[in-house]
Amino acid sequence: MTNRIAVVTGATGGLGTSMCKALAAQGRTIVASHLPDEKSTADAVAWQQDMKNDGIDVAIYPLDVTNYENCEAFVARVEQEHGPVDILVNNAGITNDAPLKKMQAEQWNQVISVNLTSMFNMCKHVFEGMCERGFGRIVNISSLNGEKGQFGQSNYAATKAGIYGFTKSIALEGARKGVTANSVSPGYIDTPMVRKVPEKVLDNILAGIPVGRLGQPEDIARAVAFLTADDAGFMTGTNLSVNGGQFMS
Ligand code: NAD
Repeated sequence: MTNRIAVVTGATGGLGTSMCKALAAQGRTIVASHLPDEKSTADAVAWQQDMKNDGIDVAIYPLDVTNYENCEAFVARVEQEHGPVDILVNNAGITNDAPLKKMQAEQWNQVISVNLTSMFNMCKHVFEGMCERGFGRIVNISSLNGEKGQFGQSNYAATKAGIYGFTKSIALEGARKGVTANSVSPGYIDTPMVRKVPEKVLDNILAGIPVGRLGQPEDIARAVAFLTADDAGFMTGTNLSVNGGQFMS
């Protein structure tokens, strides 16, 4: 497979790490991102070393996906140091849950900004170049809860549902230019994000998953690798639900 530059945002997280490994296994050059604060920077150094120990060379730079100028500078740096971005996986995401009656405007705005505005901030700086070069693969990470809604997650579910409309629209804009855009909607995956859920709630979640287990990060990474393959050019504007049968749309 052609050596292409793949950017993964929020790469040091539970799913991002696995995505980087899967893309590296396809011979991609991986450029990852971490939050710019001091702790995330230190964690990123350790993460990069862990990847190296696994035989994977990954460049990793600071990035706050909520900041338009920061995204622009990040993409410029990637292009200067590695080459044009061929593959973009918009994976960075957060939760900040509360039922609507308790949700504060800050909580709403923060989740919209990290999970949805980030899509625009990142795609804006790679999309035109992809179209000009005649190749691009964009994968936006949504969620099962964007498909079905979730108590206490009106902010999160709104962002993850919004990703579908955004993805389909840019898929149309890139269709004649060799640029595909798709989303992946993970169900409940065995990651720190899901381990934050109280035990009783997790037991209920497990009871609702027909395959009888949480997903593994590799289950999601496989979908990302599939959608970003060079020969995946006829698959665009779609969503892959990877949720163990929990929700069938
Ligand atoms: P995680 O918390 O382990 O990783 C998220 C990453 O995003 C972290 O590296 C974090 O530093 C980064 N991030 C947060 N805010 C950022 C910002 N402003 N700028 C740049 N990076 C930022 O989460 P995860 O479980 O690996 O989830 C990854 C994606 O998958 C998210 O979009 C999440 O919504 C989605 N998802 C996860 C699950 C699951 O079960 N874990 C289920 C459905 C969807």
